[in-house]
Amino acid sequence: MKEKVKNKVKQEKKINVENGKKEKKEDNKEKEHSSPERAVKKEKNTEEEGGSAKKKPISSFFAPRKAAVKLEKEERNEGEKKKDGEISDAAEQKEKKSEKGVDSAVQSQYDPSRAHYHPVDHACWRKGQKVPYLAVARTFEKIEEDSGRLKNIETLSNFLRSVILLSPDDLLCCVYLCLNQLGPAYQGLELGIGETVLMKAVAQATGRQLDKIKAEAQEKGDLGLVAESSRSNQRMMFAPANLTAGGVFNKLKEIANMSGNSVSTNAKIDIIKGLFVACRFSEARYIVRSLAGKLRIGLAEQSVLTALSQAVCLSPPGQEFPPAVLNAGKGMMCVSMPNYDAIIPVLMKEGIDELPNHCKLTPGVPLRPMLAHPTKGVGEVMKRFDEAAFTCEYKYDGERAQIHILENGELRIFSRNQEDNTSKYPDIISRIPQVKKENVRSCVLDSEAVAWDREKKQIQAFQVLTTRKRKDVDASEIKVQVCVYAFDLLYLNGASLVREPLSKRRALLRESFEEKEGEFVFARSLDSDNTESIAEFLEQSVRDSCEGLMVKTLEKHATYEIAKRSHNWLKLKKDYLEGVGDTVDLCVIGAYLGKGKRAGSYGGFLLACYDEENEEFQSVCKIGTGFKDEDLEQHYNFLKEHILPKPRPYYRVDQSAEPDVWLEAVQVWEVKCADLSLSPVYKAAMGLVDPEKGISLRFPRYLRIRDDKKPEDATTGSQIADLYKKQQQIQNQGEKQDLEDYY
Ligand code: AMP
Repeated sequence: MKEKVKNKVKQEKKINVENGKKEKKEDNKEKEHSSPERAVKKEKNTEEEGGSAKKKPISSFFAPRKAAVKLEKEERNEGEKKKDGEISDAAEQKEKKSEKGVDSAVQSQYDPSRAHYHPVDHACWRKGQKVPYLAVARTFEKIEEDSGRLKNIETLSNFLRSVILLSPDDLLCCVYLCLNQLGPAYQGLELGIGETVLMKAVAQATGRQLDKIKAEAQEKGDLGLVAESSRSNQRMMFAPANLTAGGVFNKLKEIANMSGNSVSTNAKIDIIKGLFVACRFSEARYIVRSLAGKLRIGLAEQSVLTALSQAVCLSPPGQEFPPAVLNAGKGMMCVSMPNYDAIIPVLMKEGIDELPNHCKLTPGVPLRPMLAHPTKGVGEVMKRFDEAAFTCEYKYDGERAQIHILENGELRIFSRNQEDNTSKYPDIISRIPQVKKENVRSCVLDSEAVAWDREKKQIQAFQVLTTRKRKDVDASEIKVQVCVYAFDLLYLNGASLVREPLSKRRALLRESFEEKEGEFVFARSLDSDNTESIAEFLEQSVRDSCEGLMVKTLEKHATYEIAKRSHNWLKLKKDYLEGVGDTVDLCVIGAYLGKGKRAGSYGGFLLACYDEENEEFQSVCKIGTGFKDEDLEQHYNFLKEHILPKPRPYYRVDQSAEPDVWLEAVQVWEVKCADLSLSPVYKAAMGLVDPEKGISLRFPRYLRIRDDKKPEDATTGSQIADLYKKQQQIQNQGEKQDLEDYY
C-alpha cells in the first residue's frame, strides 16, 4: 500500500513538474515552496491541460484545485508582474508570501521532511494565518512514506515548529489531529464512524455509485485512498473555503458528539460531505481515516510527544515575530498530565520550564500509572535491589483502579488507560465514604479492583471480573462483587505525594483509610530481605489467587514514577514459576548440621538428581525450607542410620557444596522451586546446557517424601535441563509481552 501512496505522491509532483516551464527537479521544487506565484502558474497549466474545467457544470465534489481559481483571479487583478525564474532571492520570496496568500499548489508541495527545514520559510502558510489542513495532510503523507521512527519524529517536529511560530493557537488541534484523539481519554469522546456510513458520504460527495466505492475500498483495503482518488475533476462553481486544521478538528468533534440514531447518522453524513467537498489533494485520505478512528500512518503517541517536545525546544514558543530562536538545542519533556488541553496552552504561554508548575496533579484528572519491570526470579530481585530497602506486595489479578476524591467530594475511578470507569463501579463509589477517615478531603488512591466471592470469602479469577458490565452499572444488579486492594496514595488533601518515598505514601494510605473485609483492604505486604521468606511469600501469594509479587523500593529511589515502567517496581509473576513445572523429585545425599533452633539435628540437606547416562547422582541444591519441626525430626532419625564415611564415587559434588555428613542415596523427596539457574557449583545436567556449568534449583522448598520412588527414579539430569530451557522460553515470552504492553 505504501508503494501506491508513494506513486500517488509522485504523480502529483509529476503533474506540476511537467507543466512548469523549465523545471529542474529538486532545486526548483524547493523554490516552489516559497514561490506561490510560480506554483500558481503551474497549477493553472495543469488545469488547462485537462480542459477548461470552469465551463463544466457542478454538483458536489471534492475541489482539489479550487484555490487555483481564486488565485488566478488575484493574479489577473494584480497583473502578470512576475515571471518564472524571477524569484530567486529568499527575502524576496518571503515578502511575496506575505503579500499574497499562499496557494493550493504550494501547499500541496509542502514538505516538512525536507533537509534543513526552516520553520518559517518552508512553511506553506504565513504568520497569523490558520494552519491549512493540507499542511497536516502533507505531514501525514511524508510520515506514511517513511518508515523510520526518528525521521518521522523529525518530520512531525518540523511541522509543529512552524505551527508554534506561525499559528500557536492551532498547536493543540494539530497535536490532537496527529494523535487522532478529540480530547483526553477520560472524556471518552471517540471517533470510529462505521465504514458504511463513510462510504455513503464519499458516494454522495462525489456522485459515484456506492457499489463502486465499496468494490474499490475492498480492492485497495483503504477507504481513505478511495476517497482521495474519487475527487472529481469537475470544478465547483462556488468553491468551498480551504480546510483548516482547526476547522477539521472542530467538525470531527461535532460528529463524535452526535449520538447514534438515524437522524444523527444523516446529520453526520452531511457534515462529512461538507468536509469532503472542500478536500484538496490527500486531505480526503486522512479525513476518512480520522473519521474511521485509525490514522494508519505509524505514529505512536510517544512519537508525537517526542516530536512536540523537540519542537518546543528547537523553536521556543512565545517569541516576537520574526522569531530570534528557530533552532535551539534539543530537549526532552516528561509530561505527567494526560491532557493536552492543559499542557499545550501552558507550553505556548509559559514555556517548557514552567510546565511542572502549571500542570499539577489534580484529583479528577487521571494520571498515567507507574508500571513494573519484569524479573526472572527472586534472585534477580535481590541482585537489583541489593542494599535498598524494599517491600513485597501481592500482585492482585484484577483491574487497576485509580480512585479520586475531588475537593468537592465527588468520586471518580479511572482505568490503567485513563478511561473513566466511575459508572462501572457504583459499589466502590458508595463504599469509599465508609472507609475513608474524616480528615481526608481529597485524594488519589492507586489500587486494584479484584473479583471477590463473598460467600467463600476469596479472590476470584480475573476472567470473572471481565464478565462485569462495563458502563452504567446499576448497583442493585451487580453479580460480580469486587474488593479494592489499595497499594498507594498519590495525593492527599491538596498535596501531591508522588515525590515522597513509598514508605511515607504507604504510611499515609494506612492512616487515611480503614480496612473493611471483602470491600477495601490494603495490599498484603512483606518487608523482608530474606530470600527464603520472599520465596515463601511468593508461593503464598499464588495460593491466595494472586499473580505473584510486586517488589517495590521503600526509601531510596522510591518516588511514584508517573507513566513509567520503572525499575523501582519489579514484578515477579507466577508464570515464571509455573514454567518450572510443579515439582521435582530429588534424592538426599548429604546433610548439614543444624544451628540455633535446629541444633542437634540436621538443618539442611544436599539434594541430587539422577543422571542415567553416567549413572551418577548430580548435586542440584541445598534445601532448608518447607520443613515442619516433625519433618526435621523424622528425617534426622531416619537418615542418621544411612551416614557414609565418604561420598560414593558416583556422587558429583563440588567441594564448596560438601555437606557435614554424607548420606546413602536411599530416599526421594518432592521439592518445589522458584527458579532454575546455571551454576558453577552444582553439577546437575552438566554439559547439557552449558559446557562447564551445571544447573541448580533456586529457593527450593520441601514438600514430602516420595516413598513410591527409588533413588534411580529421581528426576534426571536431562529433565532438569529441559525445565531450565522451558523456563528461559517463558521468561523471554514474558519480557516480550511486557515490551508489547509497554509500546
Ligand atoms: P503488569 O500488567 O503485568 O505490567 O502489572 C502491573 C499491574 O499489576 C498494574 O497495572 C496493576 O493493575 C496490577 N497490580 C496488582 N497488584 C499490584 C500492586 N500491589 N502494586 C502495583 N500494581 C499492582
